Amino acid sequence: MSKRYAGIAWTETGYRVEVLDDTGRHVAEPSSWSGGQVGELIAWLGGLGDGPAPAVVLDSTNGLLDGPMTAAGLEVYRADPWLLPPRPRFGSVPAGQLAEQARTAPGAPARVTAEGGTLTGRAEEYFDGVRRGEPARAALTEAGGCFDHGRRDDRRVALTFDDGPDPVYTRQVVEILERYGARATFFCVGHHVAALPDEVRRIASYGHELGNHSWSHPFLPDLTPAELREQLDRTAEELDRVTGAVPTWFRPPYGALTPEVLAALEGHPTTLAMWDVDARDWSRPGPEQIAATVLEGAGPGSVVLMHEGAGDRAQTVQALPSIIEGLLERGLELVTVGELAAMAGPTAGA
Ligand SMILES: [Zn+2]
Repeated sequence: MSKRYAGIAWTETGYRVEVLDDTGRHVAEPSSWSGGQVGELIAWLGGLGDGPAPAVVLDSTNGLLDGPMTAAGLEVYRADPWLLPPRPRFGSVPAGQLAEQARTAPGAPARVTAEGGTLTGRAEEYFDGVRRGEPARAALTEAGGCFDHGRRDDRRVALTFDDGPDPVYTRQVVEILERYGARATFFCVGHHVAALPDEVRRIASYGHELGNHSWSHPFLPDLTPAELREQLDRTAEELDRVTGAVPTWFRPPYGALTPEVLAALEGHPTTLAMWDVDARDWSRPGPEQIAATVLEGAGPGSVVLMHEGAGDRAQTVQALPSIIEGLLERGLELVTVGELAAMAGPTAGA
């Protein structure tokens, strides 16, 4: 059985898929999927003809598929910009070009693993960029344009859930929070907001806060300033269309705040929402480990990073009751990022 490659592009309306065999022939008709149909897409790839599922090829402007696909056992590759032709201002490189790139130069795209996450192979570049961005980020925090934790004498904590909404996990997270009377902040991606507006309304209807987490979860340093603003503005518009409110917070995917990204965001009417406790739940270390990481790290004023979408989040859901009970037992109240920031100072009202 020859090797097959499924190029998956994201577009304004969802995903576009083209599957090629190693001679460049289409194995299936090109197909389209909504941002809420990732489970169906994975099942379709797995059932495509005889033999193993095709290798999946994404570009670095798509951070939404490698999590669920590696969790499902698919072979996933990321083609970085230097391997690809230019992309549209809003959208990834077309699906056929992604599949063709991997087919003609199979060693070039990076194999993305569940352990390494979306940026497998680019960790050094990522950390170097974040380090270079630290002075500008500190200045922005001082000026009230970036928030990563509240006051340490404020006995409140903000739980945050990224990458949703999700057709399965959003309602589970919302239900657990409701059981404890807790409020949280959900940083949604526009691609999922457009596909699952009812899940977004569910979040809002329980009094939780919604934030902007870009449209397609790109590695921001790979975008032009115009592409970056497009990601923010389209997501804000979509959230406004669905909920009637424009989000005031933006959480950058991977927290990838390089000097270039910070410069591109200058003057944009949004406040950056970072965190001081990372649950590392995306690596699926087990619910006990996720709860332990949060309870060891969190204290008064903490902002806790967790995930409710773009992957198998069953462990996060399982860990959540222990996390909430542990924090409540210490007399900490669970609030939104906006509520935590309002007491902290310069970002009040942001
Ligand atoms: Zn994210």
